[in-house]
Parts: sequence; C-alpha cells; structure tokens
Amino acid sequence: MPLYEYRCADCGAKFDELVASADEKVACPKCQSSKTEKLLSVFAAAVPSGAGAGAESCARPGCGSGFS
Ligand SMILES: [Zn+2]
Repeated sequence: MPLYEYRCADCGAKFDELVASADEKVACPKCQSSKTEKLLSVFAAAVPSGAGAGAESCARPGCGSGFS
C-alpha cells in the first residue's frame, strides 16, 4: 500500500498513513478530525517542481491556471 503524508486542518498535525486508496479519508491521530488533507507523496515530492514542469503532466482541473 502507498504511504501518504497528511496534514490536519484543525490542529495542524502532520502524519503519515498507509492507505489502500488515494481517495481514502483518514482521521487525525491527535484530534480525530476528519478534516485532513493529503500532501504530496514522497515519490511525487521527488519530482522537480517549477522550472517549466507543468501543464503536460497536470491532469487535475484548475491547476493549469494561465494555460489556455
Ligand atoms: Zn488534528
């Protein structure tokens, strides 16, 4: 299973979680809040960002601002 890093929107805690699906919701281990956001995975973070890396590899709507 992939390991993802999450951050809690309520208490700001960062934690790693093994999840079966990237869309799986996880609760904060500190405050049990479900308002957690998935950060970039270790693998994704290893990809150079900026420097022209962008539009072609971006499949998410809204992240290609400035690209028309
Ligand atoms: Zn929390």
